[in-house]
Amino acid sequence: MRRFVAFASPHVNGCVTRCPIYRDRNSQCLTVTEDAVLGTESRHRIVLALIAGPAVVLIAWFVAPEPAEAASAQPSVGQSAVQATVLTTVQGDGRRVALTFDDGPDPTSTPMVLTLLARYDAVGTFCMIGTQVQANLALARRVAAAGMRICSHSRTHDLQLGTRPVSRMTAEITDVGQRLPGITVRYFRAPGGNWTPTLQAAAARNGLQPLGWSVDPQDWRRPGMSAIVTRVEQHVRPGSIILMHDGGGPRDQTVAALGQLLPWLTAQGYGFAFPTP
Ligand SMILES: [Zn+2]
Repeated sequence: MRRFVAFASPHVNGCVTRCPIYRDRNSQCLTVTEDAVLGTESRHRIVLALIAGPAVVLIAWFVAPEPAEAASAQPSVGQSAVQATVLTTVQGDGRRVALTFDDGPDPTSTPMVLTLLARYDAVGTFCMIGTQVQANLALARRVAAAGMRICSHSRTHDLQLGTRPVSRMTAEITDVGQRLPGITVRYFRAPGGNWTPTLQAAAARNGLQPLGWSVDPQDWRRPGMSAIVTRVEQHVRPGSIILMHDGGGPRDQTVAALGQLLPWLTAQGYGFAFPTP
């Protein structure tokens, strides 16, 4: 199955070249889930069978690209339909929160975060910087192998990325995925949370869900372990996406705070989830 990406209406040219079948009468791309695409393509194959007979069907079926072929041709990205809106809460019912860790992987902090998450049977989403992945490739793969999800946080953490030319945005957005072939990268988080509509659209066009947050304890400012803990405890709600950092400087305070927050959240009845619909 080919990988299809949802496009918003301003990207008509992209649609023409990348999803020509799924345009409406105004030549705007339709947002489709992969299941929907699968169903449509399968129907095309059935129609072909009725018209041209079994021999042609066999040829058409085998000519269609297989998942492995598609995966090898481009970096692996999230599989669901992607919206260009910034996701700030965990969707669905239940008392769940999503823990997210930015600016790693870091050889000191990231392994400690992984150990704590495992201790409390928790999951986290790691928003990695491309240059950090490049310098800590085995660690980045270890994060994914531990069952965590990977989020692109750009290659260089350019805080003005949202105002750069689209070609530059695309290169920065896709860098983490290109460095981790075979690993699914599902999200993109703008450096500093500095979104622009163009940057959101560019992430979605590359199959990455724009990912925000709803609780920010400002741990990167190193306010002290108890301040980080208190800020999270005061602001967390069911569905919160909590922002913390496992890179970008010494993160001993964040790691210590996480060691307090994981049992506290569990005692409050919270479960840990990924920020997906
Ligand atoms: Zn960051």
